[in-house]
Amino acid sequence: MAVVQDRTHLDLRRYKIRVTPQRQAILQYLKSTDSHPTAEQVYEHVRTVFPGISLATVYNTLNLFVQLGLVRELPNGDRSSRFDANVSDHYHLICEGCGAIIDYHGPGLEHLEAKVTQDTGFQVVGRRLDFFGLCPACSA
Ligand code: ZN
Ligand code: MN
Repeated sequence: MAVVQDRTHLDLRRYKIRVTPQRQAILQYLKSTDSHPTAEQVYEHVRTVFPGISLATVYNTLNLFVQLGLVRELPNGDRSSRFDANVSDHYHLICEGCGAIIDYHGPGLEHLEAKVTQDTGFQVVGRRLDFFGLCPACSA
């Protein structure tokens, strides 16, 4: 592991939760990938470093991270939830062929949000927008 660049202990401290090597490994893996892995995939990866870790620990840790706002859970219909450590505003392109979830940093929705507030008085503090379709590989 790239110990020098690992700043996950700072994230965990900022959220006032106990820093453990397992928690760091889970967060570090999620921050290192944009593949939006399932809990099972996180478990498969982290146990290469911590063979003793249980799937339940991974689930509990992911739930804790989601509750704290450190990680975003992406519900995935009948399939397993996916997890994203990138909690900045971005959109997801969800492939109905292979299940890939691709990040898209497109134009903001400021105009739409302003109109929502104007029309309804609703103050928007967050947004979520998913596009469903086929990725280039699946549509080829
Ligand atoms: Zn695809
Ligand atoms: Mn994402």
